[in-house]
Amino acid sequence: MKKVVLLGSTGSIGTSTIKVVEALPDRLQLIGLAAGRNVKELSSQARRWRPEMISIGRPELLGELNDLVPNGTKTTSEAEGLLELATLPEADIVLIAIVGTAGLEPALAAIRAGKDIAVASKEILVMAGEIIMREAKKNGVRVLAVDSEHSAIFQCLNSKPENVVRHLWLTASGGPFRNKPKSEFAEIRLSQALKHPSWEMGQKITIDSATLFNKGLEMIEARWLFDIEMPRVKVIVHPQSVVHSLVEFIDGSFIAQLSSPDMCLPIQYALTWPDRVGHRPVETDLASIANLSFENPDTEKFPSLGLAREAGCSGGTLPAVLNAANEVAVAAFCREELAFPGITETVEQTMNRHLNAINPDLPTILEADRWARAQAAELISGQP
Ligand code: NDP
Repeated sequence: MKKVVLLGSTGSIGTSTIKVVEALPDRLQLIGLAAGRNVKELSSQARRWRPEMISIGRPELLGELNDLVPNGTKTTSEAEGLLELATLPEADIVLIAIVGTAGLEPALAAIRAGKDIAVASKEILVMAGEIIMREAKKNGVRVLAVDSEHSAIFQCLNSKPENVVRHLWLTASGGPFRNKPKSEFAEIRLSQALKHPSWEMGQKITIDSATLFNKGLEMIEARWLFDIEMPRVKVIVHPQSVVHSLVEFIDGSFIAQLSSPDMCLPIQYALTWPDRVGHRPVETDLASIANLSFENPDTEKFPSLGLAREAGCSGGTLPAVLNAANEVAVAAFCREELAFPGITETVEQTMNRHLNAINPDLPTILEADRWARAQAAELISGQP
């Protein structure tokens, strides 16, 4: 029985994780849950799963939460609560599915407490991938990928060393604007950007998929997870989202992982690894899919990929700056205060203003994150 702490239990990945746990009651047990502000869903999950501890992001909601939770479940809140959950003595694995960067310090705390972590929150590997992977190695714990692309690469690599790999190929659906002329990008509305062609996901990652920043973040995530230089991480557009990613080996062979798009599969693999479990398998009907197509991404239309490659190649604090500016710009787009092309422009301008610090420690990364958020907000409000 693996004891699981789930940070971000009320979101898209969180609820899919709960479905996986529900299907495997003899293998997985939820002992800790955290959400941001959805008291109703979190308390209902607590009544169903009776975890040892739950945490809510907003401290003002703790009273309301306390009224709704069962006896025996401890409640806590804010960043402290996440740290307590991430280091629960009984936990075997901590799955981090909090949108944005709030999962970074809990991830490090879990690693230092000797727990394996399963990472959906790619933002934390973009910000501090080097530190996370170094700490994981030092503490002898695993960092398991939840993102479908990275889970695919992990499965295709099958423990082969980096020196037999020529390229890692991340597949991208291309998002809802793959066929839209760039001249129409300024007119894109929030409701259009939220219509992803293949996946149902939270709002932030759905917008990131429309700008292709999601793929840019994933390139940097892959660089750290698989300890491979950025130029060997490639992106190929594959609109069917059936091939989840590929590894190209030095002898010219490609190995790919395929299935119909369903996040329960990579989540389950991260939680049950190294085992494969056959309960309620994802069904994939290749004949009805019929065609798999591939094309190069249009980097002129989607400059996000070039910006992410630049940040990943430069390293230092630049990836944290890219990530933070993107978060601020996406939030402004979602409030309808910024046009769609403004997301990429804000990130580019924030990166251009940044003086990169190489080999940063965690406080330097967190400072770069704060700096970039302030700069991006300033750029969006038009106030120097
Ligand atoms: P959602 O927006 O659906 O969910 C976000 C979750 O984070 C919610 O449970 C939210 O709680 C919680 N949360 C937010 N702030 C805090 C906080 N301060 N403390 C505790 N919990 C908090 O996002 P997704 O599930 O789509 O994505 C989560 C992460 O996984 C992202 O980093 C994304 O890039 C990554 N990912 C997502 C995929 C997907 O298919 N959705 C695929 C691959 C990666 P509440 O609802 O209560 O506010």
